[in-house]
Amino acid sequence: MTAFWAEPDFDEHECVQLVHDRASGLTAIIAIHSTHCGPAAGGTRFWNYPDPAGAMRDALRLSRGMSYKNAMAGLPMGGGKAVILGDSQRTKTPGMLAAFGDAVDALGGRYVTAEDVGITEADMVAVAQRTAYVSGLPVAGEGSAGGDPGPFTAIGIYHGIKAAVRHKLGRDSLAGVHVAVQGTGSVGSGVARLLAQDGAKLTLADIHAERAADLARELGANVVASEAIMSVGCDVFSPNALGAILDEEGIARLDCAIVAGGANNQLAKAEHGALLAGRGILYAPDYVINAGGIISVALEYLARAEGAPADINEVRKRLAQIPERLETIWQESDATGISSDVVADRMAQKLIGRS
Ligand code: NAD
Repeated sequence: MTAFWAEPDFDEHECVQLVHDRASGLTAIIAIHSTHCGPAAGGTRFWNYPDPAGAMRDALRLSRGMSYKNAMAGLPMGGGKAVILGDSQRTKTPGMLAAFGDAVDALGGRYVTAEDVGITEADMVAVAQRTAYVSGLPVAGEGSAGGDPGPFTAIGIYHGIKAAVRHKLGRDSLAGVHVAVQGTGSVGSGVARLLAQDGAKLTLADIHAERAADLARELGANVVASEAIMSVGCDVFSPNALGAILDEEGIARLDCAIVAGGANNQLAKAEHGALLAGRGILYAPDYVINAGGIISVALEYLARAEGAPADINEVRKRLAQIPERLETIWQESDATGISSDVVADRMAQKLIGRS
């Protein structure tokens, strides 16, 4: 593995920690990008990386993304991320989660963790046995925010898609708007259900084909193979699977007016934002549109520190600000000719004191 500071994705991260626990077999990376706005908050990903360098790249890129996301969502949190390296034989064990909790605890609150891909609410409950610097824990009763961030992320994306359709297509209703949804997991299925309620026409795909097929049956949607979803002729392509799908080849395949979805790090490289804009496609910067989950998780964490449940109305209010933020970015992009991803990055860098 190259030294992390030689990685192109290293961006003056405040702390990058490799965690290894021999007894449980845990290998993880915890990356703290910035604590300028508060403790570094960001989920933990459990993934079988074919190459450990890929895990380091993910930790570096995703933690920077969290700094930008939290700052743009107006949260008093910095940006961090953890990745746990799985392998083809070994899955998560209680021992690994306990060792991971100890590693988070040892950072003394500079990093606050939650769920990400491959990590469940039950996993976070296990981590919380060893540290208080954790969120996304089950919440009791109506009227509380917190718990699994997926549904809140989906609500924010739904608001963002509506704003994009208004901005690009001049339509106030989603009725008949065709959305191609890539990935029907926690976030993608939530987005699809909300869009279906508004009468959007949906095409779905997932590498677990039966997952997309089940949801398509429930919603009366179409389904295509996962390799075909990016070329579907539609109004909105909504990526809700993994990142880096918007590269030269991916962008060339798109046949849509808007890209708006929840996946983190959708642009394979920084220059791909301009490529999208050059094709006349409106892009909703990922870390702005997908902030719903961290809004809920952060408010849950901050409220717990005060010994109170998070206020669901405050979460709803902040989710409803996502479209306003996107609109500000798109207006500046329209006025300056600078692509929306760069406009958003500059706003975020200013907020975290890095401009
Ligand atoms: P998930 O694991 O529940 O769902 C992801 C789905 O994508 C799975 O069903 C998987 O089979 C599918 N998938 C993977 N590769 C695919 C491909 N090439 N084509 C089609 N489908 C594919 O994860 P999630 O929580 O829904 O997160 C989805 C994305 O949103 C991730 O990039 C995640 O980082 C991002 N995100 C999630 C949240 C959250 O609150 N869960 C918040 C912000 C961002």
